[in-house]
Amino acid sequence: MTEKEKFFGRFPSPRLLFLRSVCYNIRTMKKFLTDLHTHSRFSFDGETELDKMCAAAYQKGAAFYGVSEHLDYDLIERGAYEMINADEYFHAARHLQEDYAGAMNLLIGVEFGFSDEPSIAEKYCGFYEKYRPDYVINSVHTLKGEDYYNQTPYFKKSGDRGEKSKAQAYREYFESVRASLDAPYPYDIVGHIGYCTRYAPYEDRAATLAEFQSEIDGILKRIIELEKILELNSSNKGGVSPFLPSREILERYFALGGRKVSFGSDAHYVSRVMDKWEEAIALLKEIGFTYLTVPCRGEHIEVEI
Ligand SMILES: [Zn+2]
Ligand SMILES: [Zn+2]
Repeated sequence: MTEKEKFFGRFPSPRLLFLRSVCYNIRTMKKFLTDLHTHSRFSFDGETELDKMCAAAYQKGAAFYGVSEHLDYDLIERGAYEMINADEYFHAARHLQEDYAGAMNLLIGVEFGFSDEPSIAEKYCGFYEKYRPDYVINSVHTLKGEDYYNQTPYFKKSGDRGEKSKAQAYREYFESVRASLDAPYPYDIVGHIGYCTRYAPYEDRAATLAEFQSEIDGILKRIIELEKILELNSSNKGGVSPFLPSREILERYFALGGRKVSFGSDAHYVSRVMDKWEEAIALLKEIGFTYLTVPCRGEHIEVEI
């Protein structure tokens, strides 16, 4: 039995997990590695089988590993991709959770793609009730059902398909993020703020505080008020900053009193699991954060960094 295994029993309650994580830190002076945003082949764009993703996380020393398969009802309704086989996913994932008990805390989550359509929000509520994921990431991937990945939200619908100005396109994105915070379904983590910068067609793709202070402040204050967790996402896909959100936005969140942050690699294949962990933690510490927050079944576990 390894040292870590002594501290985790069968999958325990979040409170017990927290106590054990503190004991582990004190006894070993080691920090816990966490990665709460990952996808396997249960997601339409995942490349690796779930068990292989979990094995990679375990090998890399993760103490908390969260799987957050995609569910974007607006895109599914438009036929952009097929509905996840949720029965199979939760069945397989809960078995793996049992298998890893005592060695790694495997958390079974989901990433909901926000839509302002009330009928879609209802579907998320129904999904949550049925499957009871350990945690939920709430992310904005679309604008009016159009995926940022396809760049459609940056273009005017009518006429010559000219680009919207950056100010207009980003403002619409931030409005959507702000609306997503008041979604009627339970969620824990606010996913990759600044996603609009990843695929934008502009020469200068940055979304700075100087340009969008009131929109960004509105979002950050609401996250703090609702006691949600702001995600630090290490997948930038050639974006303007190595992380989403940018350092500037993280600093602003901290200055406004925000302390709840999570780390997510957004890995879709094995080699990206825990990617840029060291860099991310160094950045968070420089800003002043002292712990990561791991949500599990409605409770928040603080993991020292
Ligand atoms: Zn996402
Ligand atoms: Zn994702």
